[in-house]
This record gives sequence, structure tokens and C-alpha cells, in this order.
Amino acid sequence: MDNNELGCKRNDALQELEMLTVNAKEAQQLILTKILESNQASEYLSKFMNRSTNTSTFKRNVPVVTYDVVQPYIARISTGEDSSIISGDRIVELLRSSGTSRGEPRLMPAISEDLDRRTYLYSLLMPIMNKYVSGLGEGKAMYLLFVKAETLTNSGIPVRSVLTSYYKSPHFLHRKHDLYNNYTSPDEVILCPDSQQSMYCQLLCGLVERQHVLRLGAVFASAFLRSISFLEQHWCDLVNDIRIGKLNSNVTNTECRLAMEGFLALPNPELADELEEICGHGPWKGILGRLWPNVKYIEAVLTGTMAQYIPMLEFYSGGRIPLVCTMYASSESYFGVNLRPLCKPTDVSYTILPNMAYFEFIPLEDGLRVTDDEEVVGNDKLVSLVDVKVGCYYELVVTTFSGLYRYRVGDVLQVTGFYNRVPQFKFICRRNVILSIDTDKTNEEDLHNSVTRAKKILEDRNHILLEYTSYPDTSTVPGHYVLFWEIKSTCEGVKPLDPQLLESCCISVEESLDYIYRRCRAHDKSVGPLEIRVVEAGAFDALMDLLVSQGSSINQYKTPRCIESGLALKLLNSKVTASFFSPRDPEWTV
Ligand code: AMP
Repeated sequence: MDNNELGCKRNDALQELEMLTVNAKEAQQLILTKILESNQASEYLSKFMNRSTNTSTFKRNVPVVTYDVVQPYIARISTGEDSSIISGDRIVELLRSSGTSRGEPRLMPAISEDLDRRTYLYSLLMPIMNKYVSGLGEGKAMYLLFVKAETLTNSGIPVRSVLTSYYKSPHFLHRKHDLYNNYTSPDEVILCPDSQQSMYCQLLCGLVERQHVLRLGAVFASAFLRSISFLEQHWCDLVNDIRIGKLNSNVTNTECRLAMEGFLALPNPELADELEEICGHGPWKGILGRLWPNVKYIEAVLTGTMAQYIPMLEFYSGGRIPLVCTMYASSESYFGVNLRPLCKPTDVSYTILPNMAYFEFIPLEDGLRVTDDEEVVGNDKLVSLVDVKVGCYYELVVTTFSGLYRYRVGDVLQVTGFYNRVPQFKFICRRNVILSIDTDKTNEEDLHNSVTRAKKILEDRNHILLEYTSYPDTSTVPGHYVLFWEIKSTCEGVKPLDPQLLESCCISVEESLDYIYRRCRAHDKSVGPLEIRVVEAGAFDALMDLLVSQGSSINQYKTPRCIESGLALKLLNSKVTASFFSPRDPEWTV
């Protein structure tokens, strides 16, 4: 496809988007009608709709639910019951979401048509980008993309992550090659199940093609930074491979080795010298622009919990390469795109695509007070997509073709404006999540349960845990959870804290954190060992004084279970007497 054809394709995509957003109300009505027509016979919907396909009946009768209601249906499908209990279409895979329920990942049903919807959203990204950045078809993208391990249910349905599903699909593998989806990483390397080998090869390809690379990125900022940190550790090996024209023997995956042959056909000492000069003799601040001199932007999710990585990315980019967030999506459904991709990451708003699913919103009336999972949300409280109000906060609720009905996604969003009839949302937070480094999402209750289990180890050894709080430390790569603990001895003359005791506490906390956390630690290696920082007596009183002086009410004061303010963190760090890390990875099985 040449530049002219690409231009036409771009205009078509943007025109379609225009129509869709102008006719948002109709598009949403149509989606809901189609979902009801297709799924009316399902056991779930018939309970509330008595086979009606009337959208008003849906709004009146179908309850707003959380995963606990969906889970028994997913369990039945996993053990071989027919998909028709929730959907009119066959459930072809279960998508392992990063949200968890009782420590286990939530599994979202998916039908084959969902891949078309995801592909549609992806197909808008380059036409939108191209409106703001020219010449993107004249080079390549070094996007660091990875798959995760997958399993099968007893009935043989694949259980995998939504991105793994997409990268393994014909929609991705048989994509029409055009100038906009010209990636440096071969598909075989993206599909390599060993993420270290995959990362090594993807970086190698990007370095070999450094003069052609116009875009850098990964899905999440955490994965991009982990790859850059990997480069920092392994650049000598990578440069050596380029110098001698031979792939490091640590890459053992046959598909990767085969796919890499073309990249290292001949020794390239000139390129190796250039790279050695940049990586070995210069500062790493701003290194991305030196390694990839023609790069026009870096793309990754940098909103929500990923915002914590903005400073680190600015360090490596030297603050001179635009950071771009293009889309907002989940395993339940893809949601929307950023129509102003060059805005600052802190100003990003996502425009919801009204053809992805049927969207409704729970107004958060007390500003940001978020309702609990257990709290029943009245059907009449929900607001439809086109009726949300600028400035207000909402929790997102979706109804999908694959069998989620009025399902609370758990994301809190704020309306910042409208594009035609479609609202644009700023991502505010994930309901209840207090700690997150990569795809892990730990809420207050999970943290509390884990700490409660670990503190018994202290109590058996004559110590009690007086107070604790936590902090996601992203100054290390990968980032890690830090717990501040104030500990008191319960008997006279007890010896100083035994490091082994505190290390046992660290691992005990990790062992009882959820499946995704343990996977990130033990398998993906995207989260580092948990650290306990013991603070001196009175440290939490000083924290309370500080927070009260900053406006917290002394009567209602509760120790925050996660520290957000810089001053509070500084204060606690100044009172640390010792620090301990988990001595090993927590247990995790696929
Ligand atoms: P998962 O179900 O594991 O795919 O995770 C989906 C969740 O990741 C969403 O519900 C959001 O909480 C978060 N997420 C996805 N995209 C973004 C984004 N662009 N900005 C902020 N958070 C996001």
C-alpha cells in the first residue's frame, strides 16, 4: 500500500469515527438491541427479561452486578456447560483480567466477534496519530509486545490474557502489512513464551534498525521501562551480537533464533561501535533519543497507576520526545481512544467508542466516594453514555455480546468534555486499588489480610505490629511494594530484630497476595521483592501529626494504608531503622 492509498484509508477511518460519534445515541441503542436479540435466550438474561428484547425492560429489570455474580456462570462454562447460559454466541476463550476476586484472576468471556471489535479500535490509532505527526509511514515502530502463559479449562477453552489472545489471532498475525504497522519485532519473537528471550531479541531488532525507528512503545509504561532497564543490563551482550553477527547462545527458543537470522546476517562492527559509544560512555539520561535518533514519540499507557512512571520515562527520553497514550481498554471490552494524542499524559482524556459495548455509568454523587462491591446499585441510578455531565465522576458499567450484563468494571472516570455526542473521560482510578506496579492491583483489604497473616509470625516471637502503611516504590526497576512497619517488643530485654524473622514476614505477605501479584513477581519478574522498612517508635504518631497539619480531621483520622504525599513518605523514610526484603519468589502456578 503506498502513501496515497494510506491517506484514503486514513480518511475513511476518521469519517467513520465522525459518523459514529455524531450518532452515538443511536449506535448505543443499536448495540443494546443487538445484544438482547442475540442473547435473549440465555439462562442469565431470561431470568430478568423473560425473553423480551425490549431495551426499557432491560433497564428496568437487569441488575447491576460485580464479578461475584458472574463467576458461577464462568465456572460452569469452564467445566463444560454450554455458552448459551450467558450468550447467544459460543464463548471461544476466557480472558484473564488483572482484576482479581478472592485472590484468583477474574475470567471474562469472549466470543470470536470480539476480535473484530478490538481490531476496529486498533485500526483507528494510526489515522488519529497521523493527523498530528507526519511521515509515520516512512519508518518502523519498535513496540515491545509480549505474550503470557495460557492454560485450558477442563472443557478445553483457552484461558489467556486479552493481549495474548490478540497477538495470537489471525487479526494480528495476518494483518495487511502497510507502512503503519511495520514493526521491528518479528511476530515469532513477540510470540516467544519466554519474556526474557523475547525482550532480548526485540531490543536487538530495534537496535539493528535504529535509524529507521520512528516510534517506540509498549502497551504499559511499566513494560517499556522494564525493557529499557534490561537494555541497561544487557547492552554489552547485544552490542557483541551485532559486532560478530551471531545471536547470543542464551536465546534458545528455536522460532526466535530462526526469526533473528535476517537481523544478524553479517557482522556489523560500525554499528556496534556507535552503540557502545552511546551505551557505554554517555549518560543514560536522554538515551532514547540518542539510540533512536529519528523517533517521533513514545507510546504507552501512562494514565491511572501508570502515571507513576512518567518521571522515569522523561529521564530516559530527556523530556524531548512526546509521550503518547492512545487507548483505554480492558478484558471485558475495549473502551476508547485519545483524540488528542500529543497532549501531556496528565491531560489525557479517552473518547468512548459507542460501538464497542453498551455503556452505562454509576454517578459518584459524593465526589469521589466509591461504592463498595457489596453495595447494591439501583437500576434507576444508571446514566447512559450520552447523558453523563461534564465535570462529574462515574463508575463504568458494561453490557457485552459475550455475556456480561450491567457489569461494574471498577474504573472511576471523570467527564472532561464531549466529542460530538460522545463523552470524553479522564481515567481517575481503579476502584479500591491502593498499590500497583505492573498489572498487579492490590486493594486495601487484600493488603490488610496479607499483613494480618504475616504479623502472626512476629507475635510468635514476642513482637507486635503496632501500625503499618505501604508505598509503591518505582524508583527501582522493576518497582516493588514497600511496607513501613512500627514494631514493639512484648517482653523486656528482647534482642534486636532478627533479619530472618522479618524476611519470613516479607515472604508471608507476598504468599498471601493475589494470583496476579504473584505472577508478576515469580513469572513476569515485573515486580521486585517486597520490602519491609522498620520505623522507630513514634513514627506513626509523627505521620498523624503531619497529616492532621495538612488538613486531615483528628477525630476521623485513620492511618492511610498507602502513602501518597511526598512529605509523608519523606517523614517515614527519615525514621527507618532497618530494611528487609523477601528472600525468594512467592509460589505461583499458571
Ligand atoms: P485488564 O482487564 O487486565 O485488561 O485491565 C483493564 C484495566 O486496566 C482497566 O479496567 C483499567 O483499570 C486499566 N487500564 C487499561 N487501559 C488504561 C488506560 N489507558 N489508562 C488507565 N488505566 C487503564
